[in-house]
Amino acid sequence: MMTECDLAVAGGGLAGCLIALAVAARHPDARVLLVEGGETLGGNHIWSFFDSDVAASDRWLIEPMIAHRWPQGHEVRFPGHGRRLAAPYNSITSARLDAHVRQILGGRVLIGADVSALTPGCITLSNGRNIQAGAVIDARGGGNLAALRCGWQKFVGQTLRLAAPHGIACPVIMDATVGQVDGYRFIYLLPWDERSIFVEDTYYSGSPDLDEATLDRRIAAYARAQGWQVEAVVHREKGVLPVVHGGDFDRFWPKDDPVARAGVRAALFQPMTGYSLPDAVRFALDVAGDWPMDGVRLAQMTRSRAVRHWRRGGYYRLLGRMLFGAAEPERRWRIFERFYRLDPRLISRFYAGRSTLNDRIRILCGRPPVPIRGAMHALISPPA
Ligand SMILES: Cc1cc2nc3c(=O)[nH]c(=O)nc-3n(C[C@H](O)[C@H](O)[C@H](O)COP(=O)(O)OP(=O)(O)OC[C@H]3O[C@@H](n4cnc5c(N)ncnc54)[C@H](O)[C@@H]3O)c2cc1C
Repeated sequence: MMTECDLAVAGGGLAGCLIALAVAARHPDARVLLVEGGETLGGNHIWSFFDSDVAASDRWLIEPMIAHRWPQGHEVRFPGHGRRLAAPYNSITSARLDAHVRQILGGRVLIGADVSALTPGCITLSNGRNIQAGAVIDARGGGNLAALRCGWQKFVGQTLRLAAPHGIACPVIMDATVGQVDGYRFIYLLPWDERSIFVEDTYYSGSPDLDEATLDRRIAAYARAQGWQVEAVVHREKGVLPVVHGGDFDRFWPKDDPVARAGVRAALFQPMTGYSLPDAVRFALDVAGDWPMDGVRLAQMTRSRAVRHWRRGGYYRLLGRMLFGAAEPERRWRIFERFYRLDPRLISRFYAGRSTLNDRIRILCGRPPVPIRGAMHALISPPA
C-alpha cells in the first residue's frame, strides 16, 4: 500500500503540533502530516509555564511561540501571606502556535479534517477519505476519562483592556485572598502590558460544571475591587481540566489498543495541576529522538512512556486525594498556602512534575494544614 506520509498526527492541539514540529525539525526528510478538525491549530488557549518546566536544551522547540515572558518572576497571595518567587514565567498563545506551525509545516497541515477512525497505519476522515501513513499518533485531546478518578480545575479567563494602568508588575499565579466558594478559588493574573491584563477566575472543585455567567460576573467584580475601569474584554477562554487522583490506567488506555497516543489522551499531564506543556515538550522530543518508527512501534513506545509517567504520578494523585478527600472545600486554600511557604526549588520541581524523594517527604511532613483524621480517611478510602 502506498503511504501518503511517514507520520500522520491526529489532532493539531498542543501535543500534536509539538510532535509534528519536533519530527520535522530533527528529520527534515520525514513526511509529516498534521490533521486537525477545527479551522485553526491549538484551539483558544494561553499556555503558560515556568522557565524551570522545560530543560534549556529543549526550549528551542517552543521559543518562537512565546507571546510574552516575565523575566522578573511571579507572585502568590494568600490571606496573611504573600510571596514573590524568582522563577521567570512565559505564555504561549494559540494564535502564535497556529502561525508558527503553519509557517514551518506549510502544506503539511490539513485543517477542518474530522478524524473518525484510526489504525496504526491509517487515519479515516468523516468525509470517507483514508490517509495511509507509516505511523499514526492520536493527539485528539482528553477523550474518555471515565476510567480515571478526577477532581477538576475549572476556570474562565478574560483579557481586559483598562482605561488606566493596572499597576501589576508580574504574573500573580494565585491570588487566593478572594471569597472561597466551590472549592479552592483563586484569581490568576497575567499583565500583558500596562493597560491589558488577563484575569482568570479558577476553582479546584469536585464538580466539572462551569457556570460561565457567574465567573464572568466575578471577574468584573474583581476588576472593580482593584479600582480598574474596563474598556473592553479583548479575549476570553475557559477550561475544565482533570485533576486526576486515582483510576485504572489499563482501562483508560487498554493494552490491546494498537494506536499510539500523545498529550492528554495519553494522560501526559501533571496530575495535580492538569498542565501538560512540560510533558508535551519532553514527549515530542522523545518521539523525534526515536524516529523513524512504524505505527506498531510508535504505539509501544508511547504507551510504555505513558505507563512510566502514570507510575511516577502516583505521589501527585495521593496529594489530589488529600486535597479533594480531606479538606473541606472552602478550606483547601490552606494546603496551597502552606505549600507556598516551602523552598522555591521544591515548588519549581513540583510544577515540572519532577519532585525528588526529599521534596515528597517535605511536602507531606509537618503539621497538616487540614485535620489529620480527614487526611487519613482520604488516603485509606479515596473519594469515588
Ligand atoms: C483554556 C485552557 C488553558 C490551559 N492552560 C494551560 C497552561 O497554561 N499550561 C499548561 O501546561 N496547560 C494548560 N492547559 C492544559 C493542557 O495543557 C491543555 O489542555 C493542552 O492543550 C492539552 O494538549 P493536547 O494536545 O493533549 O489537547 P488539545 O490541545 O485539546 O488538542 C487536541 C486537538 O485535537 C483536535 N481534535 C479533537 N477531535 C478531533 C477529531 N475527531 N478530528 C480531528 N481533530 C480533532 C482538537 O480540535 C484539538 O485541536 C490549559 C487548558 C485549557 C483548556
